Amino acid sequence: MKKRCPKRKVASRKNGARTRAVIVREEKPIDYRVPLSPAQRRLNFGDRWDYAPAPEAHSYIKIKPKYELFIGGKFVKPRSGKYFDSINPATEETLAEIADANARDVDLAVKSARRAYNNVWSKMSGRERGKYLYRIARLIQEKSRELAVLESMDGGKTIKESRDVDLPLVAAHFFYHAGWCDKLKYAFPGREPHPLGVAGQIIPWNFPLLMAAWKLAPALACGNTCVLKPAETTSITAMHLAEIFQEAELPKGVVNIVTGEGETGRAIVEHANIDKIAFTGSTEVGKRIFRTVAGTKKKLTLELGGKAANIIFEDAPIDQAVEGIISGIYFNQGHVCCAGSRLFVQEGVFAPVIRKLRDRIQTLRVGNPLDKNTDIGAINSRMQLDKICKLVDSGVQEGAKLIQPRLRLPAKGYFYPPSFFTGVTMSHRIAQEEIFGPVLSVMTFRTPEEAIERANNIPYGLSAGVWTDKGSKIFKIVNKLRAGVVWANTYNKFDPTSPFGGYKESGFGREGGAHGLAAYLQLN
Ligand code: NDP
Repeated sequence: MKKRCPKRKVASRKNGARTRAVIVREEKPIDYRVPLSPAQRRLNFGDRWDYAPAPEAHSYIKIKPKYELFIGGKFVKPRSGKYFDSINPATEETLAEIADANARDVDLAVKSARRAYNNVWSKMSGRERGKYLYRIARLIQEKSRELAVLESMDGGKTIKESRDVDLPLVAAHFFYHAGWCDKLKYAFPGREPHPLGVAGQIIPWNFPLLMAAWKLAPALACGNTCVLKPAETTSITAMHLAEIFQEAELPKGVVNIVTGEGETGRAIVEHANIDKIAFTGSTEVGKRIFRTVAGTKKKLTLELGGKAANIIFEDAPIDQAVEGIISGIYFNQGHVCCAGSRLFVQEGVFAPVIRKLRDRIQTLRVGNPLDKNTDIGAINSRMQLDKICKLVDSGVQEGAKLIQPRLRLPAKGYFYPPSFFTGVTMSHRIAQEEIFGPVLSVMTFRTPEEAIERANNIPYGLSAGVWTDKGSKIFKIVNKLRAGVVWANTYNKFDPTSPFGGYKESGFGREGGAHGLAAYLQLN
């Protein structure tokens, strides 16, 4: 049987700190003028092109031993008196202790947000609010390298992603929404926009700062004040964002951050003096929140899970599509709600796509998230690693074929190799449930109609991808896919101007663009 759950092995040259660059000379130089047969063209270079380690410096990063709550513009001890550990998933070392807010702490945060709303923020002109958001955006840019390193240490994501994707997008969200502050009337011609009041915002661990920016920037731009709860395993960067709010002299209480576990989130959802709940997380918790909020005055947006179809037609540029498959499922260790986790390949190109995919995953570097060459970092937590292993086991037991590269994982930390399954049927758990890890389920189809039917045959509807040479086919397919976001000949591209959100059990409401503003406004 194939290897499934990764075993602890001694760190390899690729992954361990003990790595040394090795240069091996070609015994017989390759004559590049002679065309290579397909077998020779495989992307298997052995260890000849190994990368030398390129670790990002982190000794200058100041991680506090203890992070308190951020309420009323100050860092305050939790009334609960409790703290929990935040672990670096790549090393299993404790980074810091995080305050565990209880219902009393949440109540103080809500009161502080209400005072700030009534006395300052709702009275301030849009132009003035915009100045604060611009200032915050610039400070984020200034500190982006430090924040990126912290994000990678706390969450396990690779530095190249936190540095080149997360942080630029975090700043972009504040810049974009800063521009809207004094132009809300133009976003909704003929309507009178009013803020809602206090927004309670709960976010997951896969894009900690980015999710905070997606929530805070539009809420503040529209004149609301906020109580934000980061995820338990990734709270540190949110507290550094709180320091930026202090530095930007954001009026006290406009943003309050309460760290904690699920119970802290529940206290926010159940608090009577909150006007809007914005939640990003699992469908299971989203449904619970929906039930709690039903029948109250609270407005609600839910950004939940997904199981996106990435559809490759025979006329697609195959090499490009394979790169799209890679970024679709292995980006951020597959911890992406819109990950292209179900691959549908048209039968005629199944063999070359699988061959290229198998070769390509062999070249992905798994290991230290702070190494600039790493493609796949650490799985966010032991719990998430166990969940991935369990679902992969179910796939093997149900008869699908597991394909994994030959590699050794670091001896410490939570890591999982890039993997994919062939021989998957729609009834397999791995075709239906969100794995939220670097594991892809591959299926085939014959006609466009079959692709659409199979892609839509799932309770989720967050995102999808289509790969074809024909523009007309793109329009035809895209209009029939029940997914909030559909990418054509690309995948996982984000922009603050573009609304993001789901259908069906992937939730409702949009974040980003003018649609995202509407979620934080009363439009008369
Ligand atoms: P969870 O739903 O477990 O948690 C999300 C947040 O809700 C966390 O802050 C969590 O706290 C908190 N929470 C847990 N229980 C409750 C409760 N009863 N009431 C209120 N809040 C609660 O999701 P994960 O953090 O595991 O994130 C992964 C999920 O998020 C995936 O399903 C993914 O698809 C989805 N997601 C969706 C996105 C989208 O835009 N649609 C984007 C990113 C992720 P704690 O961490 O302490 O448990």
